[in-house]
Amino acid sequence: MVLAERGLRVTVTVLATYLVAIWIATIWWTYRDIRSRSTDVWLQVTATLLVAVFNFPGLLIYFILRPQQTLAQGYVEALEEEAWRRTVSDSNVCPACQETIEPDFLLCPSCQARLRRTCSRCERPILLSWKLCPYCGAAAGSTGSAPTTSSAPRG
Ligand SMILES: [Zn+2]
Ligand SMILES: [Zn+2]
Repeated sequence: MVLAERGLRVTVTVLATYLVAIWIATIWWTYRDIRSRSTDVWLQVTATLLVAVFNFPGLLIYFILRPQQTLAQGYVEALEEEAWRRTVSDSNVCPACQETIEPDFLLCPSCQARLRRTCSRCERPILLSWKLCPYCGAAAGSTGSAPTTSSAPRG
């Protein structure tokens, strides 16, 4: 009986050590993960505490609520958007396929990438990122189908 008791104690100790190791690992992983997704210290502390207290259910909640994009991904996307905008506005080269284009092309004739759109009022080619038309001042509301009516409200 003593031998069985000792065996049980060893099993419980091993199991407890194993669970504590998993617990620490999940907390450490969460801390690393939230730091790559947010610079907000409060968010980092909250996420780490959530997993520290509730562990696996907490981790599940964290998976649902965490920022979908890592900081590195967001940075790369911002850079790509900026590069696209610059290429379209500064050089006569399609940013997607590097084919030579005219400065007033709306679409790339080679790869069909959307480069510009026409102003709904004066119909001049303007960049996709512009909030308004710099030529006539019309607000760039709809990016897709522009209204075809050309009658101006004031003469
Ligand atoms: Zn192209
Ligand atoms: Zn315009």
